Parts: sequence; structure tokens; C-alpha cells
Amino acid sequence: MSNIIENLEHIESNIANACARSRRSQDNVTLVVVTKTASPDTIKEVVRAGYCELGENKAQHLKLVHDEIAQFLDKKQNGENLPTKVRLHMIGHLQRNKVRQVLKMSSFIHSVDTLRLAEEVSRTAEKIKTTPSILIQVNCSKEPQKYGVPVGAAIHLAEQIATMPNVRLAGIMTMGPLTQNEDLIRAGFVRAREIFEDIKTAGMCGNHFKHLSMGMSNDYEIAVEEGATILRIGSAVFR
Ligand SMILES: *Cc1c(COP(=O)(O)O)cnc(C)c1O
Repeated sequence: MSNIIENLEHIESNIANACARSRRSQDNVTLVVVTKTASPDTIKEVVRAGYCELGENKAQHLKLVHDEIAQFLDKKQNGENLPTKVRLHMIGHLQRNKVRQVLKMSSFIHSVDTLRLAEEVSRTAEKIKTTPSILIQVNCSKEPQKYGVPVGAAIHLAEQIATMPNVRLAGIMTMGPLTQNEDLIRAGFVRAREIFEDIKTAGMCGNHFKHLSMGMSNDYEIAVEEGATILRIGSAVFR
């Protein structure tokens, strides 16, 4: 068995244990495999193993993976047993001038953190006749270099996005703080969950609003314990 498959199985079992500890169903936790460090062959191996949710943090990388996967899935005619569809997630900072390119390949954007970007996404989505799901990226760790709307402004941004016609506000995304300190990491995730619950309870977004995207290679078990529904994991898969 290859390293990658072994790594994925190891991650799955850690997720299962974290779900058991927090009495959650693993069905409510989706693993997005972040491919930014991976070669085309290893990405194909992941898809062949049945992982259909892939994440990229740059528009040009998204394009490479998109084209590679499209070609690969075409091979299905040759009898290989491949998934019928792979969903690409845009998880990194998105510039407004890349929105059109990205929306043609991905209908799941985790990193909306300003009103202007949300407006651009909605406007472009209308033009190219798509309705992407978007998450609001919240800066829960208050680290100054990070992207993300400040905690105190998240609900207001959600209210504004909820009125836009061509996007579905699907949840909240956050990145854990860059630290080994578990308490600090957990505190950031708890804050994200509180914002998520506040927006959900306010009832402004309907039942599309159901995702809490948090947890990466170094902190995904804590994220599961604190309610993550989407994990974004790269280096722990491809190392
Ligand atoms: C790279 C990246 C990840 C995955 O990080 P790993 O530590 O490699 O698992 C998750 N989310 C975002 C936004 C990223 O850029």
C-alpha cells in the first residue's frame, strides 16, 4: 500500500476517534484533501481511492488540478472504476480579478472575507449562470497577518451576503492559530462555532447554512471535537 493511502487511512481513523470522543457522527465530517503540494500522479491516486473533494488555495493551481482531473475522469471509458464527479474547493485568498476564472471551476469558496469580494462573486455568478456556495472566512485567532473578517464584523457581513441573489451562504471558515498550544487552538475553534451558531440561529440564511470549515493537518482532531463539518488537510496526506 502506498504512503498516501496509508496516511489517508490513518487520518480517517483519527477523525473516527475524535467523532467518538465528541459523540458526533462521522457522516457529518467531510474531508477536503488539499492538493497544493501534490504531484499530478499523487492527486490521481487520491481520487482513485474515492476522495472526491479536493481543495486548492490559488487560482492557477486550481486550474491545473481541474484540467488534470477532467482528463483523468475521461479515462473512465477505459474501464477504470473512478468517481463520476470531483468537487473542487477554493480555500485560499481570492482576488476579485480571479473570481470569474475560479467560478468556472469551483462552486465552493471558503475564503470570502469582504463585502466587495462577495459582491463580485454574486455579480459574476449571475453572468456565468452559476450559484456557488460560499463561506465567510473569519479571523478567530486575531493574528494580524491572516486574512478573514474580524470576529466582531462577521455577523454583519453574513447579513449582507444573505441578501445577495446568486450565492448561497453555506457557512463559516477559519484557520487555527499558528501555535502548538492546544488551548489557544481550541479557543479559536470555539469562537468560530459560536459565530456559526449565532448566524444560524438568526435564521437569515436558510438551511444552506450548515458548514463549519476548520481543521488542518496539525489541528483537525481538535476541530472535529469543536464541531467542524469540513476539514481541509494537505501535508498530513502527502508527506
Ligand atoms: C494549505 C492549506 C490547508 C491545508 O494545510 P495543511 O497544514 O497542509 O493540512 C488548509 N487550508 C488552507 C486555507 C490552506 O491554505
